[in-house]
Amino acid sequence: MEKRVKCLIIGSGPAGYTAAIYASRANLAPVLVDGPQQGGQLTMTTMVENYPGFPDGIEPFQMMDAMRSQAASFGTEFVSGLVTRVELDRRTDGRMTEHRLWLDNGEEYIAQTVIIATGSSAKWLGLPSEKALMGRGVSACATCDGFFYRGKTVAVVGGGDTACEEASYLAGLCKKVYLIVRKPYLRATEIMQQRVLNNEKIEVLFEHNTLRLTGVEKVEGADLIYKKDTAEAEERHIDIDGFFLAIGHHPNTDLFKDVLERDEEGYIAVRGDSPCTNVAGVFAAGDCADPHYRQAIVAAGSGCKAAMEADRYLQACQ
Ligand code: NDP
Repeated sequence: MEKRVKCLIIGSGPAGYTAAIYASRANLAPVLVDGPQQGGQLTMTTMVENYPGFPDGIEPFQMMDAMRSQAASFGTEFVSGLVTRVELDRRTDGRMTEHRLWLDNGEEYIAQTVIIATGSSAKWLGLPSEKALMGRGVSACATCDGFFYRGKTVAVVGGGDTACEEASYLAGLCKKVYLIVRKPYLRATEIMQQRVLNNEKIEVLFEHNTLRLTGVEKVEGADLIYKKDTAEAEERHIDIDGFFLAIGHHPNTDLFKDVLERDEEGYIAVRGDSPCTNVAGVFAAGDCADPHYRQAIVAAGSGCKAAMEADRYLQACQ
């Protein structure tokens, strides 16, 4: 038996929870589907120190639990599960839409509005040591975690704009930054490359790949290989305190690939800086539609916008 709701929110990161707070307060009685990682990507960081209002920082789980409680206090209903199938209603006659969604727990929803806040996932190298030391020296966000490495030595992996931006940012805090690049050149834009190449604190290790991280309680070093799979291949070790991945992100939008417009990297296409997608009554908030900023505060702001647009849409359809 399907359940009918005014507003279904998918995702429990800052975008989803903020959308839930605003939608509940607008009497939309939202149902929020948690997704695979309750609290979202933020929960993979050590401490949140850049979210306004917390001068001493806040533990990510504490912050996300507080957002969840706030949404619950206004009446948001939470459902544990994954949305596995979506059928979007494409009517354009100004009448109320009815989008259908199926969950892995067998539940089925008919929603007048849908807010997609499924986030994105950092790409990882896939090394066992990387997984074992996650949050203990391994990070995919220099802006979030760089501060903990002041005066220390770190490595950044990647050769794109993110890697160069993160290496430059970390060079402002750290004693030394290695940039580990698998190709003999950087892929980043010229200006970003120059910034890195002209920074004496950054040593670029071209044609290097990471074999493993060393350290048990925390990252202590990395074993690298130069010119992998060639006759000149050579292993070397670097001592580091932090290891930052910057090899790209993957928006969690595969579910919508046949039903919504997305850009070539899979980010949901929205109109201008609004959360409106190409389907009426369907909105996207947070990192699933944001290839640029990827910050909790930005995601929260877009969740607010999505809920306000959902409310406006429902009022216009009445
Ligand atoms: P990119 O896809 O541009 O770059 C990823 C980098 O990671 C590449 O150098 C790639 O190597 C490397 N890489 C991928 N997989 C591995 C692996 N398994 N091992 C080692 N290295 C790997 O991602 P970005 O996040 O840098 O950028 C995404 C988009 O966002 C781009 O369009 C970028 O221009 C934009 N951006 C813009 C910024 C700005 O304008 N200020 C800031 C940040 C991003 P290879 O080159 O060999 O494929």
